[in-house]
Amino acid sequence: MIENRIFNFNAGPATLPLPVLEEIQASFLNYQSSGMSITEVSHRSPWFDDVINDAVARTKRLLGLDDKFHVLFVQGGASIQFAMIPMNFLANGDSADYVNTGTWSTKAIKEAKIIGKSHQMVASSEDRNFAYIPKNIAFNTDAVYAHITSNNTIKGTQWAQFPDTKGVPIISDMSSDIMSRSLDIEKFGMIYAGAQKNIGPAGVCMVIIRDDMLNRCPDNLPSMLNYKTYADKNSMYNTPPCFSIYCIQLVMKWLEETVGGLAAMEKINREKAGLLYDFMDTTGFYNATADKDSRSLMNVTFRLPDEKLEKQFIKKATDEGMGGLKGHRSVGGCRASIYNAMPIEGVKALVDFMKLFEQKNG
Ligand SMILES: *Cc1c(COP(=O)(O)O)cnc(C)c1O
Repeated sequence: MIENRIFNFNAGPATLPLPVLEEIQASFLNYQSSGMSITEVSHRSPWFDDVINDAVARTKRLLGLDDKFHVLFVQGGASIQFAMIPMNFLANGDSADYVNTGTWSTKAIKEAKIIGKSHQMVASSEDRNFAYIPKNIAFNTDAVYAHITSNNTIKGTQWAQFPDTKGVPIISDMSSDIMSRSLDIEKFGMIYAGAQKNIGPAGVCMVIIRDDMLNRCPDNLPSMLNYKTYADKNSMYNTPPCFSIYCIQLVMKWLEETVGGLAAMEKINREKAGLLYDFMDTTGFYNATADKDSRSLMNVTFRLPDEKLEKQFIKKATDEGMGGLKGHRSVGGCRASIYNAMPIEGVKALVDFMKLFEQKNG
């Protein structure tokens, strides 16, 4: 632990890489000899131009995106995307497929309904409280897109493989697992991610969108709700969330230069999640809530024998410098969010603590 910093297992906003926070701190008052903070420079200045262009270039290199993909920064969180997607991509007569794997998918479907666009829920895991990712889904080949949530932050499940949609572009909410593993990008028409889980502070949503999807955006939408506006203006039609984008730039730099890319990141993430799940599988005291083949590498959800023990566990862990282990208020239990920036030392400390807690209370 560094100067009273805890191991932060919060689900979002969440832990950020320490070298990134240190760089922000070091340059906060005088960014690159400008005499100003990065929060004070104009978004039309060469300083900010470099920031946003570098953030985009690094994102493209990390994910292996060619020129048909555009990287955009949109405000309104991941939640505004739930509405923008059907608004932009579904004309009269079009329909989209949705898979419901939990709270966030449910919200995406709700917004499509509000917008009044034709859509179909082709699979759901609600029958078992979203503890698994549905298999063998029959997607409609005439759907404009197939919407999934790649990682279910609250329920602790994740798509281990992306589904075969027979060529229908996948649109994935990757808020809680973007940049955590390498991707076969050709399957995706669009990816979006609220930054505050894996890539930066709250206030911005990263949108990666393919040309053919961009071409579907109609002209009769309000400018700020049209993806074309963001693509045409390099995400600077209006004042963008400059500071959040700057932090994303530094996180991408950390991923490229310190971690060594997404394959290396994935290896570390698998190791971290493996430590926790393998340990839990040896005890009857901690029970992982997701089906084995659907377990998330990012959000490890688990229960103890009763709620009283869970309360004690969370409190004791906090005392020991491990915060944010309470499950989402809608599901209870415990959740360890072990995003990219959670060091393996944090996971080891947690497993050690869990062993001790079980010895005393099991
Ligand atoms: C947190 C989260 C959201 C909501 O993000 P906001 O930025 O708060 O709108 C949506 N989807 C997933 C998968 C999330 O984890």
